Amino acid sequence: MKTIGIIGGMSWESSTVYYQLMNQKIKELLGGFHSCKLILWSVDFAEVEQLQRDGNWIKLDELMVKVAHKLELAGAEIILVGTNTMHLCAPAIEAKISVPFLHIAEATAQIIQKTGFKKVALLGTKFTMEKDFYKDIIQKKYGIEILIPTKDERDIIHQIIYKELVQGKIKPESKQKYIDIIKNLHEKGAEGVILGCTEIPLLIQAEDVPIPIFDTTKIHAEKAIEWALE
Ligand code: GLU
Repeated sequence: MKTIGIIGGMSWESSTVYYQLMNQKIKELLGGFHSCKLILWSVDFAEVEQLQRDGNWIKLDELMVKVAHKLELAGAEIILVGTNTMHLCAPAIEAKISVPFLHIAEATAQIIQKTGFKKVALLGTKFTMEKDFYKDIIQKKYGIEILIPTKDERDIIHQIIYKELVQGKIKPESKQKYIDIIKNLHEKGAEGVILGCTEIPLLIQAEDVPIPIFDTTKIHAEKAIEWALE
């Protein structure tokens, strides 16, 4: 089993889920006393969030590369970033590390491809929904069309992520807002919905919505285990 290195803490609410999912998957596959070999480097999300708001992606690239190096030095044989948004720094990380990097959008696109869906909705932070770094992989490389919510809906989704989910607040009224947005996207032709923020699965589960969900935290964590056992 290879050792997985996770750049986490963005937020820690979802990093704990990664830890659980990876160990559950190892237990399911290997049984007995087996558990996952992993190193989690958890950053202070307050620093990251401030830099995101400032649009200082140069500093964020530097920070992510620094942490990736520390993980490599500590013995990580695969590296992943436990957040969709911070994959904005993926090109910088990939260019500077010598071990494989597991991209969350790649892992997600591969799972969607298996369903044969041609059009899926994407929920996440504004960075993830509005910038190209994430959508381009799914649309251009995998030929799956991405539908994003309207401007007002994007504002609601983004605010709920930062004001509630990353702070561990799960509110029924916010859940209802997400469900309504997903229903609107379904009416516009979305065959499935990417929960493209690692905290959204804390709020929305498969049974809440009329279309299949793609839980990026679970997809990413399970793909890492597949790689670790290869
Ligand atoms: N974890 C979130 C994501 O998957 C948002 C927090 C962050 O900005 O990293 O995008």
